Amino acid sequence: MTEQLHGKGTSFVRRIYLPRIIGLGIGLFSVWAALGTVSIAPWVWVLLFINGLAWPHIAYRIALRSRTPYDAERRNLLVDSLMGGFWAATMQFNPLPSVTILSMMTMNNVAAGGKRLCLSGLLAQGTGMVISIALFGPGLQLHSTSLQVYACLPMLTLYPLAVGGVCYQLAIKLAEHKRALSTLSRTDSLTGLLNHGSWKDALQLKFQRCQQDCRHAVIAIIDIDHFKHINDTYGHVVGDRVLRQLGAEIKNNLRENDLAGRYGGDEFCVILPNIDAQQAVQIMERLREKISVYRCEQLPDLRITLSIGLALCHETFNDPVTWLDEADKALYSAKNNGRNQVSFAAARHTPTLT
Ligand code: GH3
Ligand code: MG
Repeated sequence: MTEQLHGKGTSFVRRIYLPRIIGLGIGLFSVWAALGTVSIAPWVWVLLFINGLAWPHIAYRIALRSRTPYDAERRNLLVDSLMGGFWAATMQFNPLPSVTILSMMTMNNVAAGGKRLCLSGLLAQGTGMVISIALFGPGLQLHSTSLQVYACLPMLTLYPLAVGGVCYQLAIKLAEHKRALSTLSRTDSLTGLLNHGSWKDALQLKFQRCQQDCRHAVIAIIDIDHFKHINDTYGHVVGDRVLRQLGAEIKNNLRENDLAGRYGGDEFCVILPNIDAQQAVQIMERLREKISVYRCEQLPDLRITLSIGLALCHETFNDPVTWLDEADKALYSAKNNGRNQVSFAAARHTPTLT
């Protein structure tokens, strides 16, 4: 948990590093041009260069070395704001550079921490102004020279670009994470097939399409015979491996548009669209046979057999559950008739094997 938090803070710190280098680097010119018209002590110039050129790297290192980089970075943003307020008052509130610097910093605070950081940032700016007025006295310089106007242009154009770029990258990453999470929530973690819920959703859609277009589709329910015995004899780790292996074989044996899921436990389910009964039986017979001849070098006695129930979608079915029930009945008939076989829902179809 702590590592996760640390990781989260670290990426936040890295995201802010480049915009801060750019923002403070070009902000230096705006302040420099404005300070040219007021008399200030040499140490203030030194402070300006440290703030503009060295502080982004110092802030980065402080945050990365912190036990909680996220909190450290928020403190760094407040230092940025404090210094922004300090420079605005030291420039005697020269309108263009002061508004440029303070509004860019506020934009940054809103982007990084929303309303709370924005308000804390405004407080920090006010504190910076008070410190400057306490040190140098109050002053008002309400006229901006053309040099000061031009010195603000890089800040007004490049910095929003940098912040916009960072926000765009973040939006792309969020969309990727959302996609990955959505896939994960639909997937059975052991086999990589659809999980129960998402397979049922797919079944509903396929059922509606079959009823609308009067197309053939088949459901297959695949169950491992005496799987409990496999677990009891070889252990659950081997049991899991068998489930994984079967999931992979099901995937390999299906056509591109077939939809396979793990229904639960040792039961798998497949929707085979645009297929007739005979083709569906052939596909499932192939799978059953492949699994029945499967041998494991380390466990030479391990045998895996499958019972498979199939049902064709019929126009008289009111809902997909009826369709599923038909396949379930066929599965039980396969179990009752001795297992290791494919059975088709007898009520509707009895295809002959070729
Ligand atoms: P049948 O031939 O009638 O299908 O018998 P069976 O033993 O396969 O059926 P049963 O329903 O009695 O047993 C299924 C077993 O599957 C019981 C349960 O412990 C096991 N099982 C369910 N999920 C998992 C899993 O994720 N991993 C492992 N290893 N076993 C599981
Ligand atoms: Mg079973």
